[in-house]
Amino acid sequence: MSEVLLDVQNLKTGYGDLTVVRDVSLTVRAGEITVLLGRNGAGKTTTLRAITGLNKVQGGSVTYLGQSIADVPAHKRVAEGLSYVQEGKRVFHELTIEQNLLLGGFSTKQKKRALMPKVEEIYEFFPILGEKRSLTAASMSGGQQQMLAIGQALMANPKLLILDEPSQGLAPVIVKEVMDRVHSLKATGLGILLIEQAVQDSVAIADEVAVIDMGKNVISGKAADITVEDLQAAYFGVQSQ
Ligand code: ATP
Repeated sequence: MSEVLLDVQNLKTGYGDLTVVRDVSLTVRAGEITVLLGRNGAGKTTTLRAITGLNKVQGGSVTYLGQSIADVPAHKRVAEGLSYVQEGKRVFHELTIEQNLLLGGFSTKQKKRALMPKVEEIYEFFPILGEKRSLTAASMSGGQQQMLAIGQALMANPKLLILDEPSQGLAPVIVKEVMDRVHSLKATGLGILLIEQAVQDSVAIADEVAVIDMGKNVISGKAADITVEDLQAAYFGVQSQ
């Protein structure tokens, strides 16, 4: 089995004194995709915010590369290889695609010349970004902006990439394209934690699945062992696409 990058056990977290996540556990391994699912308000983004250091860990443990990171500030987590693409494609619309990618490499403290080989790697991986490198991000479609946001996160040389609902607002055919690219990233040895509402498309590329509801796990395990009926029962009335 490959190396465990992230291990979250019995996580309790929330906002200030308010607890919204009560008992969430999940694991992400190198070269694998773990999908975190759950209906609106289940606590997915709050879980991510605790993993990335934006919300305080109130209980349980968050271990990255074998060490507790509960007290490591968010910016240090990025430097240690944990990259986070927030919900809603946070790219700089007025900057070119290339400028956006270079900004993604900011945390590595390298100059442009040193960052360009990585930029070229990202153009190989997402050819559309290379074709449009001199255009502004505003000129791109939603799906292309999502790929740019992922490319930006990859510029920080992550070991663990966390993606919060990359399918949000995209047409079904584009969702499949984005999922296909995310799936291809596994081959680089990257571990991926994918938060999604697009149940079928994300489970199709997952190695592990965790479904949460009201801040607690209702399912967790190998994607291959989880049936559509299990997912429907976990969602309890929420349709899985
Ligand atoms: P969605 O799919 O809609 O993004 P989610 O599973 O990511 O949902 P969260 O955004 O983690 O859910 O929200 C979990 C709970 O935390 C919700 O009840 C929400 O109202 C609450 N919550 C979210 N942000 C805050 C905040 N800043 N302060 C207080 N409560 C919050």
